[in-house]
Amino acid sequence: MACVTYQYEAPVSQTLFDRAASVTPGGVNSPVRAFGAVGGTPRFMVSGTGPYLTDADGREYVDLVCSWGPMILGHAHPEVVAAVQEAVARGTSFGTPGEGEVALAEEIVARIEPVEQVRLVSSGTEATMSAIRLARGFTGRAKVIKFAGCYHGHVDALLAAAGSGLATFALPDTPGVTGAQAGDTIVLPYNDLDAVAAAFAAHPGEIACVITEAAPGNMGVVPPGEGFNAGLARLCREHGALFVSDEVMTGFRTSRAGWYGVEGVRPDLMTFGKVMGGGFPAAAFGGRADVMASLAPAGPVYQAGTLSGNPVATAAGLAQFRLLEQGAYDKIDAVSAELRGLVSAALAKEGVAHRVQNASNMFSVFFTADEVRDYDDAKRQESFRFTAFFHSMLAQGVYLPPSSFESWFVSTAHDDRAVERIAAALPAAARAAAGATA
Ligand code: PLP
Repeated sequence: MACVTYQYEAPVSQTLFDRAASVTPGGVNSPVRAFGAVGGTPRFMVSGTGPYLTDADGREYVDLVCSWGPMILGHAHPEVVAAVQEAVARGTSFGTPGEGEVALAEEIVARIEPVEQVRLVSSGTEATMSAIRLARGFTGRAKVIKFAGCYHGHVDALLAAAGSGLATFALPDTPGVTGAQAGDTIVLPYNDLDAVAAAFAAHPGEIACVITEAAPGNMGVVPPGEGFNAGLARLCREHGALFVSDEVMTGFRTSRAGWYGVEGVRPDLMTFGKVMGGGFPAAAFGGRADVMASLAPAGPVYQAGTLSGNPVATAAGLAQFRLLEQGAYDKIDAVSAELRGLVSAALAKEGVAHRVQNASNMFSVFFTADEVRDYDDAKRQESFRFTAFFHSMLAQGVYLPPSSFESWFVSTAHDDRAVERIAAALPAAARAAAGATA
């Protein structure tokens, strides 16, 4: 129904989507961009400035996706653009070591105390895939514990009960992952330490690592319960497994030192992406020096990448890091808190059952009255209300993630004007949510 209603509001985007669909599966290069959960025409964006995006039909939106996290300073920040232009003019890839990648690694190590050594890669998927291989190589064990609703990229072994696009499209798992690839993955409910203890008891000496989103944002935002991450770290220690904290989304966003900076729980390995690349493909995994020493060429666990530590990506990441000091986080936290209050007030005014959940400045809205502590809770929400809410916001020039299972993101560029535009759109969107039917 949503398709019919909204399809022709963006004729140039629609034409591009039709062209795209004939040469690209589903017309997109990453599934959640397709508006599959909410229907209608995905907007093809042509430019971004600060908190705004402009689509191919010339319409401007306040952006609450921020490229799914990376654009923490807003779009086309002049200092990041200048650093990129300068780097590009010096050459775009050398296939040799370069100073930029040393500086970026030093920045990560300086910010995040448990990271003693770090390896740069090009995507969050590569980071988690490599961290898992390293954990298995280091411990000599095969099994991995992950949590339902946590997304760690499209790594074969980690796609079971993943969040993000798999939640959006209600895919339990994916064809193409063999039993052998997924057979060593143990999927447990999030926020359930007893389940983790039971899994360790059932598989003595077999579990290489526990991987978790430091604070999940891929089933909507579901913060870890009090003591959950600390409990994971303790259980891993007791059973000789590694604790892998995936900070691809939270890293350098939820604080200067990511979720580690908020909670202070010490992982053995961590993964990063998004913010650290300044809008370019750069990601990383790192942690204990003795574990990282197992990585080739220092050790036997192989890992490599033609474009790893790319000079343009590292220049963008470094430029973004230079501006990410406490003042920036204070600003993002304040904007996030203001928006959470506005969204909640608008929905409450229309009598819409909802919960706005946050982990630091990451937040999302669940259309349910009950607290959401795991993936099953998240799936119980009334997502049809989100669809109506989303399309009303879109029609009024506010770009939300096109799924109720994704975090909303703000940036330092979200100023009073941007917030006012969002506030002005909320009453009608809340009314649309109230009036929606399944
Ligand atoms: N880990 C987490 C927590 C993520 O949110 C994502 C992507 O959203 C990934 C890993 C995968 O990163 P990428 O999309 O760069 O491969």
